[in-house]
Amino acid sequence: MLVQSANFVISNTEVSKCPKENLPEYAFIGRSNVGKSSLINILCNKKNLAKTSSRPGKTQLINHFLINDNWHLVDLPGFGYARVSKTKKKIFQKFITNYFKQRKQLVSAFLLIDIRHEPQPIDLNFMRWLGENHIPFSIIFTKSDKLKPRVIERNIKEYSEKMLENHWEEMPQTFITSSLHKTGGEEVLKYIYFLNESFLEK
Ligand code: GDP
Repeated sequence: MLVQSANFVISNTEVSKCPKENLPEYAFIGRSNVGKSSLINILCNKKNLAKTSSRPGKTQLINHFLINDNWHLVDLPGFGYARVSKTKKKIFQKFITNYFKQRKQLVSAFLLIDIRHEPQPIDLNFMRWLGENHIPFSIIFTKSDKLKPRVIERNIKEYSEKMLENHWEEMPQTFITSSLHKTGGEEVLKYIYFLNESFLEK
């Protein structure tokens, strides 16, 4: 059992109001409907920890969860949802960018990407922004149950080619998950625990 306890701590839009403890922290982010809430629930082994949304774009806050009393999982708002007005979108971007730039406890971000889709500019641009700001990140491909292994391999290859084109020297750490089949989550957690150790050694 990799997660013994998972509890909601606080939701807000200001970095200054995020938990003060110096615990390692991992932020989950992706386009609305990518399967972020479902994955967080699978990782934490709780049905409704993160709300799975019938209406995408609903969770517009920085949500902190305390895991095993020694690290934070952060559920960030989904981006790229068309029904959010332009001004509102800007505000989200501001507090999301503030979070990434200011949050000292952040060890790594996890960018969730629906494995079915070809590389999207919004994800590639976000990765570039993370890179420019020296924010470590990994990619979690979601909904792998929807494709055959051969197609998964092809789509990931397409991603790595696009990233190389976008001046990345190598692909970041990647994970392939399915919340429906409950696969891939354990690898994500093992990676988090591996990173936690280096955070604690610092
Ligand atoms: P969020 O908006 O990123 O939090 O996405 P949700 O977790 O709410 O999921 C959006 C939709 O995708 C829901 O209808 C989920 O049931 C579905 N979904 C999420 N993960 C998976 C998955 O791994 N496999 C399949 N087949 N569907 C998924």
